[in-house]
Amino acid sequence: MNSDKWRRREAPLDPLLLAAAVASGPHVTRHHYHHVGHTGIDPEMINLLLGEEVHDDEAIRAPPPRYVSRQAPRSQRLKDELSSNDQTTTTTTSSILVTSPTDEKSDNSVDPPPPVVKLVDPPAFDPVRQDIQVQCLSRARIPTPHGPVFLHLYRNNRDDKEHLAIVVDAEERQHRDASDSESSDDGEDHFDDLPHIISRSLNNVWNSHETKMDRLVRGAQSKPFKNKNKSSSLSLHNHQKIIPPSLVRIHSECYTGEIIGSMRCDCGSQLSEAIRLMSLQGRGVVVYLRQEGRGIGLLSKLRAYNLQDMGHDTVTANLALGHGADERRYGIATAILDDLGIHQIRLLTNNPEKVIAMATEGINIVERVPMIPPPQTRSEDLDKYLRTKIDKMGHMLSL
Ligand SMILES: [Zn+2]
Repeated sequence: MNSDKWRRREAPLDPLLLAAAVASGPHVTRHHYHHVGHTGIDPEMINLLLGEEVHDDEAIRAPPPRYVSRQAPRSQRLKDELSSNDQTTTTTTSSILVTSPTDEKSDNSVDPPPPVVKLVDPPAFDPVRQDIQVQCLSRARIPTPHGPVFLHLYRNNRDDKEHLAIVVDAEERQHRDASDSESSDDGEDHFDDLPHIISRSLNNVWNSHETKMDRLVRGAQSKPFKNKNKSSSLSLHNHQKIIPPSLVRIHSECYTGEIIGSMRCDCGSQLSEAIRLMSLQGRGVVVYLRQEGRGIGLLSKLRAYNLQDMGHDTVTANLALGHGADERRYGIATAILDDLGIHQIRLLTNNPEKVIAMATEGINIVERVPMIPPPQTRSEDLDKYLRTKIDKMGHMLSL
């Protein structure tokens, strides 16, 4: 057997590394040569590698420095932690942001864990009402390559899925930044002039005991809006102003296309393009519905893919599995848009059925904006998918 085949390819010792080791003293511990247990450097090997005369002097053979832990033993730290927990059990949630300047830390102390922030529950849905009800549970800023968006997470009274709204509102962002830098202790909100895209259910008062911290953690404005007409309802205040028709896309979840970049469809690039277009215009909403595979779910979608590989198209594969060609529903999307105060939209879609479905749900579509995703790598699967969309589902696309 040729033993060269198994030899390591790099040099056995890096001369530069050795030179650096020699140049430093025992007080420097960037590398292992001075660590406890290391036997030191063989001067003969350095001579051999560097071609220089290095003596076996004190610097090389000096005993390594000793390190002493500045932390107390674990048993001591656990004891301290337990006693400090006893003292903080009565701490209120609002104290989380307060640090006392007189809190001098000794070398042996450890930081106590922050108290758990207790939040009020959202109000229950009205059991008497038969219509679709949604409740925004939280809202947070998400920076994207196209600019910041506000992700809203909803629950509803129809299914247990977390449907989402991706809100682009550049003016609100600027306005909020400006308000934050000003002192707003006058109790007046600073949103009088512009009708922003704001969730009513998120910003309403959830509970008479809710704190400012409650509101901030869920992403609501710190103070409930005060209405000039002596009403505390945000809906009357913000939503009475008509939000100009906004660019809206109703997008259904596609794990395969958005997460693993499947080239069987173009959902990932459509989602990204929608956010980009809205960011360019400074305003818009993507309602992101958790209805995978045109509403049939991921399991059926994968089975449908196998049928497609046997010759079916996207429509006949769904039918062969006992599903409808398209089982998506838009009632929850309509309720979310209503919660955001959006009643007139410019719908970003190529799907005429979506236009009809949204109009039936009571949304005023002032314009259909064609969705032209940026060119992506074409594949045989994608071409077939787009062809079926045009031929069988009437999508307004040009290939
Ligand atoms: Zn897809």
